[in-house]
Amino acid sequence: MLSDYERLAHLNKDFLWNPFTQMKDYLSSDPLIIERGEGIRLYDVQGRAYYDGFSSVWLNVHGHNVPELNQAITDQLSRVAHSTLLGMANRPAIELAEKLAGITPKGLNKVFYSDSGATGVEIAIKMAFQYWQNKGVKNKKAFITMNQAYHGDTIGAVSVGAIPLYHEVFRPMLFPSHIIPYPYAYRCEGGEKMALEATLTTLRNLLETRAEEIAALIVEPIVQGAGGIVTMPPSCLREMAALCRKHDVLLIADEVATGFGRTGAMFACELEDVSPDLMVIGKGLTGGYLPVAATLATDEVYQAFYADYEEQKTFFHGHSFTGNPLGCAVALASLKLMEENKMIEGIGAKAAFVEQKFAKLKDRPHVGDIRQKGLMVGIELVRNKASREPYEWKERIGVRAAERARELGMLTRPLGNVMVFIPPLASTETELDAMTDILAKSIIDVTEGG
Ligand SMILES: *Cc1c(COP(=O)(O)O)cnc(C)c1O
Repeated sequence: MLSDYERLAHLNKDFLWNPFTQMKDYLSSDPLIIERGEGIRLYDVQGRAYYDGFSSVWLNVHGHNVPELNQAITDQLSRVAHSTLLGMANRPAIELAEKLAGITPKGLNKVFYSDSGATGVEIAIKMAFQYWQNKGVKNKKAFITMNQAYHGDTIGAVSVGAIPLYHEVFRPMLFPSHIIPYPYAYRCEGGEKMALEATLTTLRNLLETRAEEIAALIVEPIVQGAGGIVTMPPSCLREMAALCRKHDVLLIADEVATGFGRTGAMFACELEDVSPDLMVIGKGLTGGYLPVAATLATDEVYQAFYADYEEQKTFFHGHSFTGNPLGCAVALASLKLMEENKMIEGIGAKAAFVEQKFAKLKDRPHVGDIRQKGLMVGIELVRNKASREPYEWKERIGVRAAERARELGMLTRPLGNVMVFIPPLASTETELDAMTDILAKSIIDVTEGG
């Protein structure tokens, strides 16, 4: 007789193809199978508890199984689960749009829904492209992105992506983008100042010579996520935005990871007083509950599409589940709960606590760099601290440290040699204390444990 766990594990291995997962490795492992969640903990089918140390891949805000959020979904469910937004509307989609226009950087007044960060990026790219076409500026067709950028996995989003490991195989399918350096201070000879200089100089030169061919620049504001949780030097985003404005190139802020309090402000753009032309949000939008994303546009962008039908300026894009009422209802409830709990106001103290906890790791022989903005932390492990020599990717040091963390009762997913700590924003100081201890111990055990 198979146990319940064994049965599910077999079925998983027989029928499920997991994302971003080499199934050959997975099939030889004991898969983690989650049964339920409570607060910031997840429980597997065998009843073991784990801290959700990466917010179920950077989504979760209030924890799991939150009564207010559950209630919002069941209330909406008792009315209607889904109806379309194609040429009609529904109550939560309208009310959420108003709310989002109110909390996002000034100028972003129009909300276009989709169902994942990637589709939100896809929409931003198509809007930017068609914006210039509709205005009769036919040559502005290209995009600028940053080295190691991640904007999602659909083909358009991959075309403005720049992580070779994920993107290279698809190169022949992609439209080419201009890639400028990301200011990665730890991996730059001259440190932060030179890294910043390289980014801005390259962008300036590119815009001075080719702005008339360029539709938009897309950027992960303040923190580059999947590229390794790499934080920007101060003023970088502001100066990039100013250069775009000066050269008449649209700025697309991909706030999918950084939005909804993650970096300490509601949106990372606020940290540098930047108002983009287009902004993409997802992940934390529904508190991490349901797949809703949105692309916000300025009135200026919107107006370029607003015309008599015969002019053929309509934005012909949409998805079956655009503006799903259940998702929009839980997003509204999540934002309400964020306000009631003064969540944004509380991030600073929690972030300071985490920073002070990880400061103890600074002297460890294989901790190269600790990067943090708000409750978004990346710890880069190196083989040689003095020379900053990285571990070889084949050593899978990050994976091993994450496996150790799981044994110790916390889930996370590394980015190569970078350990990721992105806890739910609702985590208490006691919980942050326990989680940071687990991560520190797993790093020490794996890098120093012989
Ligand atoms: C996660 C992420 C995306 C993609 O979002 P999905 O919902 O996974 O499609 C896009 N941009 C950034 C910055 C992200 O972190």
